[in-house]
Amino acid sequence: MRYQPVIGLEIHCELLTESKVFCACKNEFGGSENTRVCPRCSGMPGTLPLLNTGAVKLAVKAGLATDCTINNYSAFDRKNYFYPDLPKAYQITQFEFPICTDGHITVCGDKDIKINRIHIEEDAGKLIHDDYEGISMADYNRCGVPLIEIVTEPDFRSIEEVWDFVEQIALRLKYAGVCDARMEQGSMRVDVNISIMPVGSETFGTRAELKNLNSLKAIGRAIEYEINRQAEILDNGGTVVQETRRYNDNHGNTKALRSKEEAHDYRYFPEPDIPPVILSDEDISDINASMPEMPQHRFARYTKKYGLPEDDAKLIISDKNFSDFYDDAVKINPDYKQISNFMLVELNHNLNDSEKNISDLPFSPAELAELVKMSTDGIISKNAAKDILKIMFDDGGQPMFIAKDNGFIMDNNTARLTDIINRVISENTDSVESYKSGNQKIFGFLMGQVIRLAGKGANPQMAKDLLTEKLK
Ligand code: ADP
Ligand code: ZN
Ligand code: MG
Repeated sequence: MRYQPVIGLEIHCELLTESKVFCACKNEFGGSENTRVCPRCSGMPGTLPLLNTGAVKLAVKAGLATDCTINNYSAFDRKNYFYPDLPKAYQITQFEFPICTDGHITVCGDKDIKINRIHIEEDAGKLIHDDYEGISMADYNRCGVPLIEIVTEPDFRSIEEVWDFVEQIALRLKYAGVCDARMEQGSMRVDVNISIMPVGSETFGTRAELKNLNSLKAIGRAIEYEINRQAEILDNGGTVVQETRRYNDNHGNTKALRSKEEAHDYRYFPEPDIPPVILSDEDISDINASMPEMPQHRFARYTKKYGLPEDDAKLIISDKNFSDFYDDAVKINPDYKQISNFMLVELNHNLNDSEKNISDLPFSPAELAELVKMSTDGIISKNAAKDILKIMFDDGGQPMFIAKDNGFIMDNNTARLTDIINRVISENTDSVESYKSGNQKIFGFLMGQVIRLAGKGANPQMAKDLLTEKLK
């Protein structure tokens, strides 16, 4: 590739507040058209906005989750434009004084991506186009849904960096309870700004803004398409124009929506009906104290302090409830690796096979911790641990009781096991002969016979050693 892509992101996230940002309407996805609206959010003249402090708190949390400076003073502005999904004909946003500035996220191990700002704004409604009837309908339920917009510097140089950033942002916002970050449902929407320049150049090219990206895959495909489109223009001696383009996932291409020349002059001015947001340092530290430990910090703890492989640590943090469960379990039994392995393999196996969720299991992290300890202490075999987990998973119960009730406690009585082995050998003379004449595979069959007679409590290692000895 002769060209270096330069990419910056603008990410809109719907905040998980109970009500909308300037009125008391429910902030809930869906509902019949125009049932979640009131005079305020439908832009009736004479109504006044009332700022939802819950939205402010979540915006602060988003800033804290991305190492931003939280500003003691921020304020709202009106962004004026007409579009049928915006009945007020202006959007209330933060232009001059955003609530958070100067954050960053490290991607792909060591690359720092700077966040220019995070500001609060309101969402617009939705237009539903009926091509058959030739009409468009407006649903204002989404008007006034609280959003934050996260704006990065043009620091990305590859699709992988963009992917890592988007995944990390989504995870951090979920941990902090700011946003459920479902791209496919539109609760997190990523706009990609992209330009290209000759490799080695320091001067950025003219950018295009790509809208309508609702998955990581779409982001990757749109960037790739756009790099090629712009490269072809430059190769033919043309110039890229600054414009907004819509990505079409079915065709895998982008199409011009509007160019810079048609761009609106928004005539921003300070919103006269909402006082500035003043946050004391104490307000900010109170909000900080209510934040859970963030995934990137858990990742560092798991890999550096607990010695887990990076892939395992990544899997654990990918779901906050899973990570919480792990943390609670290792508090009881600090066998970091065994607990991690057992949860990632055996517990996940059960979870995948069922409708159950990690947050509504009928047993506690402490009980799982105990089960793993029983196995590593040799009280039960590894196979018995799996069987016990299955019972706990279905019906709950304490691992030690389950082990005793079901005869899973490992039997270390050599005499009994020797008797059983002698019996198996005498009843399977053909197999024993076959083994002795070099058929190693038959050993597994003989072991199976021993375990079958000895029961679930058999010590498999002891059985194996004794059987090997007897077959010599
Ligand atoms: P504007 O003020 O015109 O909206 P911004 O400076 O706010 O422009 O940038 C908007 C987005 O575009 C940001 O995400 C930024 O990182 C990105 N961006 C700016 N310049 C470029 C460029 N030359 N190439 C790619 N992205 C860019
Ligand atoms: Zn309302
Ligand atoms: Mg901008």
